[in-house]
Formats: sequence, structure tokens, C-alpha cells
Amino acid sequence: MIILLQADAPDRVAKEVERTLLRHGVTARHHRDPRSGRRAVEATGPGLPLPYAISDALRALPGVEGVLAPPDPTHRVSDAPAEVTVAGPRGPVIIGGPDPVLIAGPCSVESEAQLRTVASAVAAAVPPGRALLRGGAYKPRTSPYAFQGLGAMGLHLLRRVGDEVGLPVCSEALDERSLEEVAATCHLIQIGARTMAAYGLLRAAARCGRPILLKRGFGATIDEWLGAAEHLLSAGAPAVILCERGIRSFETATRATLDLGGMAAARLRTATPIVVDPSHAAGSRGLVRPLALASIAAGADGLLVECHPEPSESRSDAAQALSLTELSVLAQAVWAVSRAARDRGPLSAEGTSAAARAG
Ligand code: PEP
Ligand code: MN
Repeated sequence: MIILLQADAPDRVAKEVERTLLRHGVTARHHRDPRSGRRAVEATGPGLPLPYAISDALRALPGVEGVLAPPDPTHRVSDAPAEVTVAGPRGPVIIGGPDPVLIAGPCSVESEAQLRTVASAVAAAVPPGRALLRGGAYKPRTSPYAFQGLGAMGLHLLRRVGDEVGLPVCSEALDERSLEEVAATCHLIQIGARTMAAYGLLRAAARCGRPILLKRGFGATIDEWLGAAEHLLSAGAPAVILCERGIRSFETATRATLDLGGMAAARLRTATPIVVDPSHAAGSRGLVRPLALASIAAGADGLLVECHPEPSESRSDAAQALSLTELSVLAQAVWAVSRAARDRGPLSAEGTSAAARAG
């Protein structure tokens, strides 16, 4: 991206351009044509491409002659607003506001009793309006012989218990068939890591009119993840919440490698909420807390956490499930870290790139 300055532009114009770029995670390099004396500012860095609103703001600065920017292939994601509203039985839940959101529940819905116990604990763990109940009904399992979820019955239980306890509900749509059922019962549709790039599923999900929680594929780059979000928005999804859940690396001590650097880099490119799933990244319950707290300190808008009344008896992902007491203790620590981080102001280079967050 190049910002061309008018021939007689004073120094302060170049400084103002540089300050604006820096606020959005972009570095400025100054150039001057030795013959004509004309100046230009070259923008480089992970914050590119900038949201159109920022390019327009630069273009409008007095002393700027023009802005040369390649088209942004994820312009809808770049310009997405910071807050996403998820409808719920007791009013909407806002994701991306000042307080984090807790999206929690069992890996799989197993029974009404299990779900009711979990749902009450999730609702009690955080202030009203800050939680969603999540439970899998159609499970993407590595083995075809492992528990695949309760299917339609699981979704039905999820919605019933969510309504009773007053929490919006979220579940994964594995394919276009389960999508129809998920969209009919859930307030928030989850697209999992394995199907992040199933563009047909993404387009179908976008047409359901519900906000979508888009997990990052474990082999996906930030560009590919944001590209998948752009597929959703361009096909009509009302809003996307990104979810970092760890990527594949050489490391085997954790189930996946939580990429908080990737989260911070994605934050430079979009204001849309980003939540972190420490459970699938950690793969074991003892590691969930440090990853969760680090995520919140680094600016995550919320957490997706798996929990169970009897963790070791979970029918899927038992090793990473928190007990309900552990969930409640974690939520308190999350709120303390969130308050501390908020009091210190934005953590990234002079704030976030996201125009809507920077104000
Ligand atoms: C899940 O959230 O239940 C899940 C299977 O996660 P992921 O798609 O991130 O592996
Ligand atoms: Mn799981």
C-alpha cells in the first residue's frame, strides 16, 4: 500500500499518515523522489490489508494526494463490526463488548440430566448475559466407531435446557443435513476445524440467517481462516465470530498448539469477535486454565470451554473436560484478568487495527 503526498505537503502530513498506520499495526517507510521532491509513504506489516474505512480516512487527510492499495480479498471481514449479537431466550448476548463471553458445555450432549447440571453451572459461573451453552450433537470423531453424538435428540435437549436456564445455545453443523437441524434449534451455528474450508457448507450456513462461530482449521493460515469468514459474509451470514483452537505443530505435549500470535495477527485485520478454545488446544484439563487466562490477557473476546459433571466419564474428549467447580473457579480468574487487561487499555500496537474498535 502506498500513500502519495501532495508535492507541497508539510512534514506533519507524513507524520499523521505514519501515526494512523501505526495504530493499525502497519509500519511506515518514507520515500522521496530525488528529482521531483515528491514524497510517498509505503505501508508494510501484518495489519495489511487495512479496512476500507481506514484507507478512506487516509485518502481524506489534507495533504494526501492518493492511496494505492490492492483490493482487499477479505474486505467484508476487514470492515466487520466489533460486536455480534446472539439472540437468546432471555434477551441477546453481545459478543465483542467490554466483558468476555463464556461459551461452555459438554463436548457431547449425553443426557438431559447431564446437560441440566452443566447448564446451571455455566449460567452461575458468569454474570447474566455473558454465557452460551454449547454441546455437540453431531460429532466429528476421528474414529467411525467412537460415539458420534445423539444427533437430533441432542439438539432438542440442548435447546430445551438452554431455554429453561435462559442461555442461548450453540452446536456444530457437520454437513448440510445436520446444518438444517442446527439452524432450526441453535442461536449460534458452529463450523468446526475440520470443515472450516468446506465452502459449500459455509455458503449453506451463511444462508441460515444465524451468526456463525467459525473455528480455525488446524492446518489453516490466518489468510485461509479469514478467507473462510469472507465466504460466510459474502454469502449473507449476518455475523461471524472467529475461534482459535490450536494448530498442528511438531509438539505432542499438547493436543494442538494454541496460536495466540495468530489470534493477535487476525485481530489486526478485523474487529469481528475472536474467541479462543483452550480445551481442544490443550487436550488435557490441567492445561486449560493457563491457556484460557493467556487468551483473555491477549485480548480474546471470550472462551469456548468443555466441562462435564463427571469429567472422566465424558463420552468424548474426557481428558480435557473441566469439572463444574473447575469451570466456576476458571470463570472468576478470567473475569479478574479481563478487568486488569481492560484497565490497562488495548494491548496491541497502539490499539487494534479494527476500525470499529479503534473508534
Ligand atoms: C468441538 O468443538 O467439539 C470440536 C470438535 O472442535 P474442533 O472442530 O476445534 O476440533
Ligand atoms: Mn470436544
